[in-house]
Amino acid sequence: MRYAEEGNIDDLESRVVYNNLCCYCGACGGFCTEYIRYENELPKTEEKCFEIHGACFDFCPRTFLPVLEMEKELFGGVRSDKDLGYFTEIITARATDAAIAEKGQDGGVVSALLIYLMEKGEIDAACISRNSETEAWKPEPFVARSKEDILAGAGSNYEQCPTLIGVGNAISDGCESIAMVGLPCHVQAMRKIQLSNFFDVGGSKVKYVIGLFCTETFDRALLHAKLDELGVKIEDVKKFDIGEGKFKIYTDGGEITEKIAAMKSCMREGCKVCYDFAAELADISVGSIGAEAGWNSVIIRSETGKKLIEDAKAAGVIETKPLADEKVELVRKLASRKKTGNLKNIMDAAGAVRILNLAVDPTEMNILL
Ligand SMILES: Cc1cc2nc3c(=O)[nH]c(=O)nc-3n(C[C@H](O)[C@H](O)[C@H](O)COP(=O)(O)OP(=O)(O)OC[C@H]3O[C@@H](n4cnc5c(N)ncnc54)[C@H](O)[C@@H]3O)c2cc1C
Repeated sequence: MRYAEEGNIDDLESRVVYNNLCCYCGACGGFCTEYIRYENELPKTEEKCFEIHGACFDFCPRTFLPVLEMEKELFGGVRSDKDLGYFTEIITARATDAAIAEKGQDGGVVSALLIYLMEKGEIDAACISRNSETEAWKPEPFVARSKEDILAGAGSNYEQCPTLIGVGNAISDGCESIAMVGLPCHVQAMRKIQLSNFFDVGGSKVKYVIGLFCTETFDRALLHAKLDELGVKIEDVKKFDIGEGKFKIYTDGGEITEKIAAMKSCMREGCKVCYDFAAELADISVGSIGAEAGWNSVIIRSETGKKLIEDAKAAGVIETKPLADEKVELVRKLASRKKTGNLKNIMDAAGAVRILNLAVDPTEMNILL
Protein backbone atom coordinates (compact mmCIF):
# COMPACT_ATOMS: atom_id res chain seq x y z
CA MET A 1 0.00 0.00 0.00
CA ARG A 2 1.20 3.48 -0.77
CA TYR A 3 -0.25 4.77 2.47
CA ALA A 4 1.15 3.06 5.58
CA GLU A 5 1.80 4.45 9.03
CA GLU A 6 4.18 3.09 11.61
CA GLY A 7 3.20 2.54 15.21
CA ASN A 8 3.45 0.03 18.03
CA ILE A 9 1.27 -1.31 20.82
CA ASP A 10 1.53 1.97 22.75
CA ASP A 11 0.22 3.85 19.71
CA LEU A 12 -2.52 1.24 19.27
CA GLU A 13 -3.57 1.71 22.87
CA SER A 14 -3.52 5.49 22.80
CA ARG A 15 -5.06 5.93 19.34
CA VAL A 16 -7.55 3.07 19.27
CA VAL A 17 -8.24 1.51 22.65
CA TYR A 18 -8.36 4.69 24.78
CA ASN A 19 -10.36 6.46 22.06
CA ASN A 20 -13.05 3.74 22.21
CA LEU A 21 -12.42 2.82 18.59
CA CYS A 22 -11.48 -0.84 19.11
CA CYS A 23 -13.84 -3.19 17.25
CA TYR A 24 -12.41 -6.39 18.87
CA CYS A 25 -11.78 -8.01 15.49
CA GLY A 26 -8.83 -10.02 16.83
CA ALA A 27 -6.29 -8.79 14.26
CA CYS A 28 -3.78 -7.48 16.82
CA GLY A 29 -3.81 -10.56 19.08
CA GLY A 30 -4.35 -13.08 16.28
CA PHE A 31 -0.84 -12.57 15.00
CA CYS A 32 0.95 -11.54 18.19
CA THR A 33 0.23 -14.27 20.66
CA GLU A 34 3.41 -13.43 22.56
CA TYR A 35 2.37 -10.08 24.01
CA ILE A 36 -1.29 -9.43 23.35
CA ARG A 37 -4.11 -10.92 25.43
CA TYR A 38 -7.69 -9.72 25.53
CA GLU A 39 -9.33 -8.51 28.70
CA ASN A 40 -12.93 -7.32 28.63
CA GLU A 41 -12.76 -7.59 24.84
CA LEU A 42 -9.84 -5.15 24.61
CA PRO A 43 -6.21 -5.88 23.75
CA LYS A 44 -3.77 -5.76 26.66
CA THR A 45 -0.04 -6.32 26.82
CA GLU A 46 1.05 -8.22 29.88
CA GLU A 47 4.74 -7.77 29.20
CA LYS A 48 6.26 -4.72 27.60
CA CYS A 49 6.77 -5.07 23.87
CA PHE A 50 9.64 -2.91 22.65
CA GLU A 51 8.92 -3.10 18.93
CA ILE A 52 9.25 0.30 17.31
CA HIS A 53 6.81 -0.80 14.66
CA GLY A 54 4.31 -3.55 15.32
CA ALA A 55 1.97 -5.76 13.30
CA CYS A 56 -0.71 -5.00 15.91
CA PHE A 57 -0.77 -1.35 14.77
CA ASP A 58 -0.31 -2.18 11.10
CA PHE A 59 -3.18 -4.70 10.90
CA CYS A 60 -5.73 -2.83 13.01
CA PRO A 61 -8.60 -1.47 10.88
CA ARG A 62 -8.94 1.47 13.26
CA THR A 63 -5.39 2.87 13.06
CA PHE A 64 -5.49 3.86 9.37
CA LEU A 65 -7.66 2.61 6.54
CA PRO A 66 -6.75 3.87 3.05
CA VAL A 67 -9.97 2.45 1.68
CA LEU A 68 -9.83 3.73 -1.90
CA GLU A 69 -6.22 2.70 -2.28
CA MET A 70 -7.12 -0.75 -0.97
CA GLU A 71 -9.98 -1.00 -3.48
CA LYS A 72 -7.59 -0.21 -6.33
CA GLU A 73 -5.22 -2.95 -5.20
CA LEU A 74 -7.95 -5.51 -4.60
CA PHE A 75 -10.33 -4.82 -7.45
CA GLY A 76 -8.32 -2.77 -9.92
CA GLY A 77 -10.58 0.25 -9.58
CA VAL A 78 -12.52 2.43 -7.16
CA ARG A 79 -16.18 2.48 -6.30
CA SER A 80 -18.81 4.27 -8.25
CA ASP A 81 -21.23 3.70 -5.37
CA LYS A 82 -20.32 5.49 -2.13
CA ASP A 83 -22.74 3.44 -0.02
CA LEU A 84 -22.06 -0.09 -1.30
CA GLY A 85 -18.44 0.20 -2.43
CA TYR A 86 -16.89 -1.36 -5.53
CA PHE A 87 -18.98 -4.13 -7.11
CA THR A 88 -19.73 -5.73 -10.45
CA GLU A 89 -23.14 -7.28 -9.76
CA ILE A 90 -25.82 -7.58 -7.09
CA ILE A 91 -27.97 -10.69 -7.04
CA THR A 92 -30.19 -12.67 -4.71
CA ALA A 93 -29.39 -16.30 -3.92
CA ARG A 94 -30.16 -19.22 -1.64
CA ALA A 95 -28.72 -22.63 -0.81
CA THR A 96 -30.42 -25.45 -2.72
CA ASP A 97 -29.79 -28.04 0.01
CA ALA A 98 -32.78 -27.73 2.35
CA ALA A 99 -30.75 -28.82 5.38
CA ILE A 100 -28.17 -26.06 4.81
CA ALA A 101 -30.85 -23.45 4.11
CA GLU A 102 -32.62 -24.49 7.31
CA LYS A 103 -29.45 -24.13 9.41
CA GLY A 104 -28.43 -20.82 7.79
CA GLN A 105 -29.52 -17.46 9.11
CA ASP A 106 -31.28 -16.41 5.88
CA GLY A 107 -30.74 -18.31 2.63
CA GLY A 108 -27.75 -20.28 3.90
CA VAL A 109 -25.58 -18.99 1.03
CA VAL A 110 -22.52 -18.39 3.22
CA SER A 111 -22.52 -21.91 4.68
CA ALA A 112 -23.37 -23.48 1.31
CA LEU A 113 -20.39 -21.76 -0.35
CA LEU A 114 -18.01 -22.78 2.42
CA ILE A 115 -19.19 -26.41 2.29
CA TYR A 116 -18.88 -26.38 -1.51
CA LEU A 117 -15.29 -25.06 -1.33
CA MET A 118 -14.33 -27.58 1.33
CA GLU A 119 -15.88 -30.59 -0.40
CA LYS A 120 -14.22 -29.59 -3.68
CA GLY A 121 -10.85 -29.41 -1.92
CA GLU A 122 -10.45 -25.69 -2.66
CA ILE A 123 -10.01 -24.87 1.02
CA ASP A 124 -8.71 -26.80 3.98
CA ALA A 125 -10.17 -24.46 6.59
CA ALA A 126 -13.03 -22.01 7.00
CA CYS A 127 -12.52 -19.35 9.66
CA ILE A 128 -15.95 -18.61 11.06
CA SER A 129 -17.66 -17.82 14.34
CA ARG A 130 -19.28 -20.43 16.55
CA ASN A 131 -21.15 -20.09 19.82
CA SER A 132 -19.17 -21.09 22.91
CA GLU A 133 -19.90 -24.51 24.34
CA THR A 134 -19.75 -23.12 27.88
CA GLU A 135 -21.28 -19.62 27.72
CA ALA A 136 -24.64 -19.17 26.01
CA TRP A 137 -24.46 -17.21 22.75
CA LYS A 138 -20.84 -16.12 23.25
CA PRO A 139 -19.33 -16.00 19.75
CA GLU A 140 -15.86 -17.51 19.43
CA PRO A 141 -13.46 -17.75 16.51
CA PHE A 142 -13.57 -21.25 15.06
CA VAL A 143 -11.48 -23.00 12.42
CA ALA A 144 -13.95 -25.29 10.62
CA ARG A 145 -12.44 -28.33 8.91
CA SER A 146 -15.58 -30.18 7.78
CA LYS A 147 -19.17 -29.72 6.64
CA GLU A 148 -20.33 -30.52 10.19
CA ASP A 149 -18.03 -27.83 11.59
CA ILE A 150 -19.34 -25.26 9.10
CA LEU A 151 -22.94 -26.08 9.97
CA ALA A 152 -22.10 -25.85 13.68
CA GLY A 153 -21.23 -22.18 13.11
CA ALA A 154 -24.20 -21.32 10.86
CA GLY A 155 -26.56 -18.54 11.95
CA SER A 156 -25.94 -14.97 13.08
CA ASN A 157 -24.69 -13.92 16.47
CA TYR A 158 -25.11 -10.16 16.93
CA GLU A 159 -22.20 -9.86 19.36
CA GLN A 160 -18.64 -9.28 18.22
CA CYS A 161 -16.37 -12.25 17.55
CA PRO A 162 -12.58 -11.81 17.33
CA THR A 163 -12.58 -13.79 14.06
CA LEU A 164 -9.01 -12.84 13.10
CA ILE A 165 -7.73 -14.95 16.00
CA GLY A 166 -9.18 -17.92 14.12
CA VAL A 167 -7.37 -16.85 10.96
CA GLY A 168 -4.10 -16.62 12.93
CA ASN A 169 -4.72 -20.09 14.37
CA ALA A 170 -5.50 -21.62 10.97
CA ILE A 171 -2.28 -20.19 9.48
CA SER A 172 -0.14 -21.29 12.42
CA ASP A 173 -1.76 -24.77 12.25
CA GLY A 174 -0.43 -25.07 8.69
CA CYS A 175 -3.64 -24.54 6.69
CA GLU A 176 -2.73 -23.61 3.14
CA SER A 177 -6.00 -22.50 1.60
CA ILE A 178 -8.45 -20.69 3.81
CA ALA A 179 -11.84 -19.01 3.48
CA MET A 180 -12.86 -16.49 6.10
CA VAL A 181 -16.26 -15.06 6.95
CA GLY A 182 -16.45 -11.71 8.65
CA LEU A 183 -18.20 -8.46 9.37
CA PRO A 184 -16.91 -5.30 7.66
CA CYS A 185 -14.29 -4.73 10.40
CA HIS A 186 -12.96 -8.31 10.08
CA VAL A 187 -12.75 -7.95 6.31
CA GLN A 188 -10.91 -4.62 6.60
CA ALA A 189 -8.41 -6.21 9.00
CA MET A 190 -7.95 -9.25 6.74
CA ARG A 191 -7.24 -7.02 3.76
CA LYS A 192 -4.81 -4.87 5.75
CA ILE A 193 -2.97 -8.06 6.68
CA GLN A 194 -2.87 -9.17 3.05
CA LEU A 195 -1.77 -5.76 1.73
CA SER A 196 0.69 -4.92 4.51
CA ASN A 197 3.95 -3.28 3.45
CA PHE A 198 5.79 -4.42 6.53
CA PHE A 199 4.67 -7.88 7.72
CA ASP A 200 4.06 -11.17 5.92
CA VAL A 201 2.15 -13.45 8.30
CA GLY A 202 0.77 -15.71 5.59
CA GLY A 203 -2.28 -13.63 4.69
CA SER A 204 -2.05 -14.84 1.07
CA LYS A 205 -3.23 -18.24 2.32
CA VAL A 206 -6.66 -16.69 2.76
CA LYS A 207 -8.07 -17.26 -0.71
CA TYR A 208 -11.71 -16.30 -0.11
CA VAL A 209 -13.02 -13.40 1.94
CA ILE A 210 -16.78 -13.57 2.47
CA GLY A 211 -18.26 -10.46 4.08
CA LEU A 212 -21.52 -10.02 5.97
CA PHE A 213 -23.63 -6.87 5.89
CA CYS A 214 -23.57 -5.22 9.30
CA THR A 215 -25.30 -2.26 10.91
CA GLU A 216 -23.74 -2.85 14.33
CA THR A 217 -22.81 -5.44 16.93
CA PHE A 218 -24.14 -5.44 20.46
CA ASP A 219 -22.13 -5.11 23.65
CA ARG A 220 -22.55 -8.38 25.58
CA ALA A 221 -23.35 -6.78 28.96
CA LEU A 222 -25.79 -4.27 27.45
CA LEU A 223 -27.51 -6.97 25.37
CA HIS A 224 -27.91 -9.16 28.45
CA ALA A 225 -29.39 -6.22 30.36
CA LYS A 226 -31.85 -5.67 27.50
CA LEU A 227 -32.81 -9.36 27.51
CA ASP A 228 -33.42 -9.14 31.29
CA GLU A 229 -35.65 -6.13 30.67
CA LEU A 230 -37.59 -8.17 28.08
CA GLY A 231 -37.82 -11.13 30.46
CA VAL A 232 -35.72 -13.43 28.24
CA LYS A 233 -33.06 -15.84 29.53
CA ILE A 234 -30.15 -16.05 27.11
CA GLU A 235 -29.98 -19.84 27.62
CA ASP A 236 -33.52 -20.12 26.20
CA VAL A 237 -32.77 -18.27 22.95
CA LYS A 238 -32.84 -20.42 19.81
CA LYS A 239 -32.25 -17.68 17.26
CA PHE A 240 -31.78 -13.92 17.02
CA ASP A 241 -32.74 -12.04 13.88
CA ILE A 242 -33.17 -8.50 12.59
CA GLY A 243 -35.80 -7.55 10.02
CA GLU A 244 -38.74 -5.23 9.38
CA GLY A 245 -37.26 -2.72 11.81
CA LYS A 246 -37.30 -5.23 14.67
CA PHE A 247 -34.84 -7.24 16.73
CA LYS A 248 -36.41 -10.69 16.95
CA ILE A 249 -35.70 -13.23 19.67
CA TYR A 250 -36.93 -16.78 19.14
CA THR A 251 -37.39 -19.16 22.08
CA ASP A 252 -39.40 -22.36 22.53
CA GLY A 253 -42.05 -20.09 24.04
CA GLY A 254 -42.40 -18.06 20.83
CA GLU A 255 -41.09 -14.83 19.33
CA ILE A 256 -40.28 -11.70 21.33
CA THR A 257 -39.53 -8.48 19.48
CA GLU A 258 -38.00 -5.13 20.29
CA LYS A 259 -37.89 -2.09 18.01
CA ILE A 260 -34.48 -1.92 16.37
CA ALA A 261 -34.27 1.77 17.37
CA ALA A 262 -34.49 0.67 21.02
CA MET A 263 -31.49 -1.65 20.47
CA LYS A 264 -29.20 1.29 19.62
CA SER A 265 -28.48 1.63 23.34
CA CYS A 266 -26.81 -1.83 23.19
CA MET A 267 -24.43 -0.91 20.36
CA ARG A 268 -20.73 -1.50 20.98
CA GLU A 269 -18.85 1.77 21.34
CA GLY A 270 -16.38 0.83 18.58
CA CYS A 271 -19.19 0.31 16.05
CA LYS A 272 -20.16 3.97 16.18
CA VAL A 273 -17.24 4.96 13.97
CA CYS A 274 -17.60 2.23 11.35
CA TYR A 275 -18.01 3.60 7.83
CA ASP A 276 -18.81 0.29 6.13
CA PHE A 277 -22.15 -1.54 6.01
CA ALA A 278 -21.66 -3.93 3.12
CA ALA A 279 -18.20 -5.39 3.91
CA GLU A 280 -16.87 -3.37 1.01
CA LEU A 281 -13.47 -5.04 0.71
CA ALA A 282 -14.73 -8.65 0.55
CA ASP A 283 -14.80 -10.89 -2.54
CA ILE A 284 -18.55 -11.17 -2.04
CA SER A 285 -20.79 -9.62 0.61
CA VAL A 286 -23.93 -11.32 1.89
CA GLY A 287 -26.93 -10.05 3.83
CA SER A 288 -30.66 -10.27 4.16
CA ILE A 289 -31.92 -6.73 3.53
CA GLY A 290 -33.57 -6.52 0.12
CA ALA A 291 -33.99 -10.28 -0.26
CA GLU A 292 -37.20 -12.35 0.06
CA ALA A 293 -37.52 -14.46 3.21
CA GLY A 294 -35.25 -17.50 2.90
CA TRP A 295 -32.93 -15.77 0.41
CA ASN A 296 -29.81 -13.60 0.63
CA SER A 297 -28.74 -10.41 -1.09
CA VAL A 298 -25.26 -10.95 -2.55
CA ILE A 299 -22.86 -8.26 -3.76
CA ILE A 300 -20.17 -9.60 -6.09
CA ARG A 301 -16.99 -7.53 -6.05
CA SER A 302 -13.83 -9.38 -7.16
CA GLU A 303 -13.00 -11.88 -9.91
CA THR A 304 -12.57 -14.49 -7.16
CA GLY A 305 -16.07 -13.73 -5.90
CA LYS A 306 -17.57 -13.84 -9.38
CA LYS A 307 -16.00 -17.22 -10.13
CA LEU A 308 -17.09 -18.64 -6.78
CA ILE A 309 -20.73 -17.67 -7.39
CA GLU A 310 -20.66 -18.94 -10.99
CA ASP A 311 -19.05 -22.26 -10.04
CA ALA A 312 -21.34 -22.85 -7.06
CA LYS A 313 -24.35 -22.08 -9.23
CA ALA A 314 -23.14 -24.42 -11.99
CA ALA A 315 -22.61 -27.15 -9.38
CA GLY A 316 -26.21 -26.67 -8.20
CA VAL A 317 -25.15 -25.62 -4.71
CA ILE A 318 -26.94 -22.27 -4.85
CA GLU A 319 -29.67 -20.83 -7.03
CA THR A 320 -29.58 -17.18 -8.02
CA LYS A 321 -31.79 -14.45 -9.49
CA PRO A 322 -31.14 -10.79 -10.23
CA LEU A 323 -31.98 -8.49 -7.32
CA ALA A 324 -34.56 -5.94 -8.50
CA ASP A 325 -33.41 -2.31 -8.59
CA GLU A 326 -35.88 -1.23 -5.91
CA LYS A 327 -34.53 -3.98 -3.61
CA VAL A 328 -30.93 -2.87 -4.25
CA GLU A 329 -32.15 0.58 -3.26
CA LEU A 330 -33.21 -0.85 0.13
CA VAL A 331 -29.67 -2.16 0.70
CA ARG A 332 -28.25 1.20 -0.35
CA LYS A 333 -30.62 3.07 1.96
CA LEU A 334 -29.64 1.01 5.00
CA ALA A 335 -25.94 1.40 4.15
CA SER A 336 -26.39 5.13 3.73
CA ARG A 337 -28.21 5.46 7.04
CA LYS A 338 -25.35 3.73 8.87
CA LYS A 339 -22.71 5.75 7.07
CA THR A 340 -24.36 9.13 7.56
CA GLY A 341 -24.80 8.59 11.30
CA ASN A 342 -21.33 7.17 11.82
CA LEU A 343 -19.60 9.76 9.63
CA LYS A 344 -21.01 12.41 11.92
CA ASN A 345 -19.53 10.52 14.90
CA ILE A 346 -16.19 10.26 13.08
CA MET A 347 -16.14 13.98 12.23
CA ASP A 348 -17.21 14.99 15.73
CA ALA A 349 -14.34 12.95 17.17
CA ALA A 350 -11.76 14.06 14.61
CA GLY A 351 -11.27 17.76 15.30
CA ALA A 352 -9.44 19.78 12.65
CA VAL A 353 -7.73 17.87 9.83
CA ARG A 354 -4.55 19.09 8.16
CA ILE A 355 -3.91 18.89 4.44
CA LEU A 356 -0.37 20.20 3.99
CA ASN A 357 -0.53 23.48 5.93
CA LEU A 358 -4.29 23.93 5.71
CA ALA A 359 -6.03 23.00 8.96
CA VAL A 360 -9.81 22.87 8.87
CA ASP A 361 -12.65 21.23 10.74
CA PRO A 362 -14.01 18.49 8.40
CA THR A 363 -17.58 19.69 8.98
CA GLU A 364 -16.57 23.12 7.61
CA MET A 365 -14.61 21.85 4.62
CA ASN A 366 -17.56 22.57 2.30
CA ILE A 367 -17.25 26.29 3.09
CA LEU A 368 -13.81 26.29 1.47
CA LEU A 369 -14.59 24.03 -1.49
C1 LIG B 1 -23.45 -8.82 13.80
C2 LIG B 1 -24.20 -8.99 12.49
C3 LIG B 1 -24.94 -7.93 12.00
C4 LIG B 1 -25.63 -8.07 10.79
N1 LIG B 1 -26.36 -7.02 10.33
C5 LIG B 1 -27.04 -7.13 9.16
C6 LIG B 1 -27.83 -6.05 8.68
O1 LIG B 1 -27.93 -5.00 9.31
N2 LIG B 1 -28.48 -6.22 7.49
C7 LIG B 1 -28.39 -7.39 6.77
O2 LIG B 1 -29.00 -7.49 5.69
N3 LIG B 1 -27.63 -8.42 7.21
C8 LIG B 1 -26.97 -8.32 8.38
N4 LIG B 1 -26.21 -9.37 8.84
C9 LIG B 1 -26.03 -10.56 7.98
C10 LIG B 1 -27.08 -11.63 8.18
O3 LIG B 1 -27.46 -11.75 9.53
C11 LIG B 1 -26.56 -13.00 7.68
O4 LIG B 1 -25.34 -13.30 8.31
C12 LIG B 1 -26.32 -13.01 6.18
O5 LIG B 1 -27.54 -12.72 5.51
C13 LIG B 1 -25.83 -14.40 5.71
O6 LIG B 1 -26.88 -15.30 5.82
P1 LIG B 1 -26.67 -16.86 5.52
O7 LIG B 1 -27.96 -17.57 5.71
O8 LIG B 1 -25.96 -17.01 4.22
O9 LIG B 1 -25.65 -17.20 6.68
P2 LIG B 1 -25.17 -18.58 7.32
O10 LIG B 1 -25.09 -19.64 6.28
O11 LIG B 1 -25.96 -18.82 8.55
O12 LIG B 1 -23.68 -18.20 7.71
C14 LIG B 1 -23.42 -17.13 8.58
C15 LIG B 1 -21.94 -17.10 8.86
O13 LIG B 1 -21.67 -15.95 9.64
C16 LIG B 1 -20.80 -16.30 10.71
N5 LIG B 1 -21.10 -15.40 11.84
C17 LIG B 1 -22.19 -15.40 12.63
N6 LIG B 1 -22.11 -14.43 13.55
C18 LIG B 1 -20.94 -13.81 13.34
C19 LIG B 1 -20.28 -12.73 13.99
N7 LIG B 1 -20.78 -12.09 15.03
N8 LIG B 1 -19.08 -12.34 13.51
C20 LIG B 1 -18.52 -12.98 12.45
N9 LIG B 1 -19.10 -14.02 11.79
C21 LIG B 1 -20.30 -14.42 12.23
C22 LIG B 1 -21.15 -17.74 11.03
O14 LIG B 1 -20.08 -18.40 11.65
C23 LIG B 1 -21.46 -18.31 9.64
O15 LIG B 1 -20.31 -18.82 9.04
C24 LIG B 1 -25.55 -9.29 10.06
C25 LIG B 1 -24.82 -10.35 10.58
C26 LIG B 1 -24.15 -10.22 11.79
C27 LIG B 1 -23.37 -11.39 12.33
